[in-house]
Amino acid sequence: MKYALVTGGSRGIGRAISIKLAEQGYYVLINYRSNTEEAKKTLEIIKENNGNGEILKFDVTQIDEIENVLGSWKKQHEGEYIEVLVNNAGYSKDLLMVWMEKEDWTRVIDTTLNGFFFVTRMLLQDMIVNKYGRIINIASLSGIKGLPGQTNYSAAKAGIIGATKALAQEIGKKRVTVNAVAPGFITTDMTENLDEKELKKLIPLNRFGKPEEVADLVQFLASEKSGYITGEVININGGLYT
Ligand code: NDP
Repeated sequence: MKYALVTGGSRGIGRAISIKLAEQGYYVLINYRSNTEEAKKTLEIIKENNGNGEILKFDVTQIDEIENVLGSWKKQHEGEYIEVLVNNAGYSKDLLMVWMEKEDWTRVIDTTLNGFFFVTRMLLQDMIVNKYGRIINIASLSGIKGLPGQTNYSAAKAGIIGATKALAQEIGKKRVTVNAVAPGFITTDMTENLDEKELKKLIPLNRFGKPEEVADLVQFLASEKSGYITGEVININGGLYT
């Protein structure tokens, strides 16, 4: 059995990634924070497609929860390990910095950066010992270009890009690759309040992207075929920014 963990796999891009990884033959651990119904739905779709997996509830900002849930998973699966990790869980709280409260700043930063650190650290040693692993971090156009109204989110996503490049250099020799994917506007709950009609005029491909399109890229990065790519940030934004 080959295992993959997708944080924030209950909805949107994380759901699409979970489905694609299951198609690739992975038993997928579908993490989520609170939305059990939606996480179960992801698992149902996977099973309908003859794949398999399980749902795994923990908040990526809470180290105790992570150690508890992932720790007991690991105990129950001695001799096995999670070889693909997709750090996808994300949260945005957009507002101009002049109005931003501490909580708006810390929750966004914590979800992306502490989430990456806490979850990755739990799985890293096994990947290194087994001399194979794939870590894929979902960043954003916002972390490359910076977007007004998103100083918190841009900082978090720029941070994850730095961490991706640093970690890739630390563990390349162990055949563990670390890459980031930077989507532009993708149709999910996160973007449902945006004015797509206006925004798509800015996008050369003239539309928002689909979660499945991001998932196709992640599927490739998660595969053995991507073995000579590490420390990269791959844009998927319809040509909006390069
Ligand atoms: P959604 O808002 O649709 O889904 C967010 C997912 O993250 C849910 O599964 C949610 O779980 C989970 N989540 C949020 N906070 C936590 C937490 N603390 N612990 C565990 N899980 C958590 O987001 P998208 O699918 O749009 O985004 C997925 C990723 O892609 C994010 O990192 C986002 O920043 C990034 N991205 C999205 C873009 C877009 O246009 N949509 C563009 C660029 C990047 P639950 O269902 O339980 O709430």
